[in-house]
Amino acid sequence: METRWLLGDYGPDLSVPKRKRTARSEAGRCWVGGVVGRVGFKKGAAGNFVPRVAPADGRLTDGWGVRTIRFAVTAFALPRTPTLPGLHFRLALCVLSVMGLLLSAQAANKTRYVILVTTDGLRQEEVFQGAEEILISKQYGNVGKTNELKAEFWRPDPKQSREVLFPFLWGTVARQGQLLGNRALGSEVRVTNGRNFSYPGYNEFLTGIADPKIDSNDKVLNANTNVFEWLNTRPGYRGKVAAVVNWDVLPWVLNGPRAGFPIWSGFDVPPGTRRLPVPRALDEMVEHSKTLWSGVLLDTFVRYAAFHAIDTLQPRALYVSYGETDDWAHEGNYERYLRSAQGFDRFLADLWRRVQSTQRYRGKTSLVITADHGRGPAPVAWKNHGREITDSAYLWMAVIGPDTPALGERKGVPLVRQAQVAATVAALLGEDFNAASPQAAPPVAEVLPR
Ligand SMILES: [Zn+2]
Repeated sequence: METRWLLGDYGPDLSVPKRKRTARSEAGRCWVGGVVGRVGFKKGAAGNFVPRVAPADGRLTDGWGVRTIRFAVTAFALPRTPTLPGLHFRLALCVLSVMGLLLSAQAANKTRYVILVTTDGLRQEEVFQGAEEILISKQYGNVGKTNELKAEFWRPDPKQSREVLFPFLWGTVARQGQLLGNRALGSEVRVTNGRNFSYPGYNEFLTGIADPKIDSNDKVLNANTNVFEWLNTRPGYRGKVAAVVNWDVLPWVLNGPRAGFPIWSGFDVPPGTRRLPVPRALDEMVEHSKTLWSGVLLDTFVRYAAFHAIDTLQPRALYVSYGETDDWAHEGNYERYLRSAQGFDRFLADLWRRVQSTQRYRGKTSLVITADHGRGPAPVAWKNHGREITDSAYLWMAVIGPDTPALGERKGVPLVRQAQVAATVAALLGEDFNAASPQAAPPVAEVLPR
C-alpha cells in the first residue's frame, strides 16, 4: 500500500447546535491515501444518535483492511462528546486507527510470490469426475488398449478416478487450498467472453476484461493491460515478472513489447518483446521438435523453462501456460489428453514442492490454476470448444497458498467469472488491480483471507 497521508476531519459538525443535529451533521470521516473510512450516526429509538457504519468510500488493497478501518472508526467514535477537546481526542484516535490500518494491511497477506499456471482447454469434467469411461474407447476416444487405459485411469467412484488423474489437485490442493467449479455442488466457474476459444479466454483471465472485440486467434497485439504487465510497474516487482508459455500467440495476448517483462514461448515473439533467456540446449531441442503442431510445443519444454526462470530470475509474479491438453483433445486422442492432464498435475506438484523447498518462496507463495476454456461433453463434442458449444464455457479454478482458506472442494459459492482471475492474482499479493484497471472484474473473495 502506498502511504500518502491526507488526514481529514473527524467527528460531528460542531457548528450545528446539539438539538438540531441530524444524522448527516453527525457524520465523521477520516482519510488516508485516498482511502476513506466513514462513520455516520442515525437517530436511535431513545432520541440519541447511534453509530452506523457506512460502506467505506475509495479503495483498500484488501477486504480485511476495509473491515479494520470500519471497526476502528466505529470503536473510537463511541465516546464522542461535542466539545473541542473531544474533537482533538477523536482526531488523535483517528490517526492511530489509520496507522494501525496501514500496518495491518501490510501484514494481512503472507503471499509475496504468485504463480499462475494454466493448461489449454482442460475440461472441468475430468477435473471433478476423472476420466470418462465412455471416452476410453476406440469409437469415441481413439484408444487402442482400452482395458489397460481403463485399469490405469478409471475407477467406479469418480472421486477415486479424479485422484488417480490429478493426485496433486485432489491430494494437496483439496486439503490445503480450494477447488472451484463443481456445478453438481453449486460452484460454477464460467468463461464470460461468449467465444470459448483461446485468445478471448487468455485475454479474459490475464486482463480481467471479457472483451467482445476479440474474436480471433490472430497474432494481434492486445490493447488490454494484463495483470503481470501492471505488476511489473509496481514497486518491488520490476524485473521480477516473467512468463513461460506454450502457444505461439500468447506473446501477442500478453502484448510483449508493451508489457516489458521477459517471455519465453519457444516461438517467434513480437518485435520489441524481451525474451526470457534459457539454456541454448533447450532452444535447440525446441527448434528440432516442432513436429507435432504448428504453434504448440510438448509441455516438457515449458516445464524446463519455467523452472529455469524460477532459478535464475526468482520472479515475484510468474505466468506458466501448458498447452498439450487442447491439441490432443482436438485430435480426439483421449489417452494422450489424459496423459497430458496428468503431466500438468505432476508439474503443479513438482512446482509446489520446489517452492516449498526454497527459503525465498516457502510459505510465501500462492498458486492460481485454471484454463482458458472448457470443452463440449462426451461422447463427441469433448474434442471441441467454441461459441456454439455452450458447455465449453464451464471452467474450473484452483488456488493454494498461505492466504487461501483451506476449504477444499467448494460447495454453494457465488459464480466465479474467468475475468476475476487477474485481480485475484494481484489481490493475493495485496495489490489492487481494479484501482489501475477499473474495467477489470473484482478478485474472487472466496480464495482471499477472510
Ligand atoms: Zn482449442
